[in-house]
Amino acid sequence: MESTTTNIHISHCSVCGSTKFAPSVSCVDYLATKEVFEIQKCITCGFAFTQDFPSEDVIGKYYDAPAYVSHSDTKKGIVNTLYHWARKRALKSKSGIVKEYAAKKSGTLLDIGSGTGYFLNKMKACKWIVTGVEKSDNARLFAKQKFDLDCQPSQYLYEIPSKAKDVITMWHVLEHLEHLNKVMAHLHNILKDDGTLIIALPNKNSLDALHYKEYWAAYDVPRHLWHFSPSDFNALADKHGFEVVATKPMHFDAFYISMLSEKNKGTFLGSIIGLIRGGIFFLRGLSDTERSSSLTYILKKKQQKTT
Ligand SMILES: [Zn+2]
Repeated sequence: MESTTTNIHISHCSVCGSTKFAPSVSCVDYLATKEVFEIQKCITCGFAFTQDFPSEDVIGKYYDAPAYVSHSDTKKGIVNTLYHWARKRALKSKSGIVKEYAAKKSGTLLDIGSGTGYFLNKMKACKWIVTGVEKSDNARLFAKQKFDLDCQPSQYLYEIPSKAKDVITMWHVLEHLEHLNKVMAHLHNILKDDGTLIIALPNKNSLDALHYKEYWAAYDVPRHLWHFSPSDFNALADKHGFEVVATKPMHFDAFYISMLSEKNKGTFLGSIIGLIRGGIFFLRGLSDTERSSSLTYILKKKQQKTT
């Protein structure tokens, strides 16, 4: 068997450009391969990243796991049951965020990493003109069959003309994308001047992340390449001409992530323990947004000064 794995070595911080890194945690790919990946942290700005991650032409095998529920529609097991219940709730909260922050009641909406199309279907029902970009053939097929949505493969993103979109959403997607700065620059380009960019990310400063350390399920190496906290994400946004106008906690992620993290640790009755711990993180996170398991950032373009 030939091995053609090519790994991407990060030599400059993708946020601030610094070359000074410190080891953060070593994580196992619990989902697919059991391989170990190092997460390093930029000493200058605090941004963290999976070092030497597989490049996008070979990373497919790391997504090739039956347990990868993001693209599944099965209802087996307590984790999946919770996931599907949470998805329903999350759909409501996502459409609520669009309603609250978009400059218009309807318009053009692009969802990057649209998966099986549940969110787009919801927004279509709210009279938005929706477009999805999704790299998985199976997920696009599912979206077509279930919702009659014509989602596009990845390369379509770069065919979108300037200032075409009123709203762009990325729900737990940016942390998967190899070309972080290229994507952020392109999003600034294709968003209208009064447009709204909505990006949800795991929070490496969350209570659950600090508790579980290398077992924290949202490190999810090597599928998650970038590991953000509010401060380093704000720095990335600023660098690309965006202002973060609001940060919303996604409290319910604490349950799902804690259950998976207990499973990573090999805890006896991990789902139950994770549910209880998740509940504690959930309650503590209510009063401390910056410690919430996941955060949704709402971004607007910085207005150009005309002085
Ligand atoms: Zn940095």
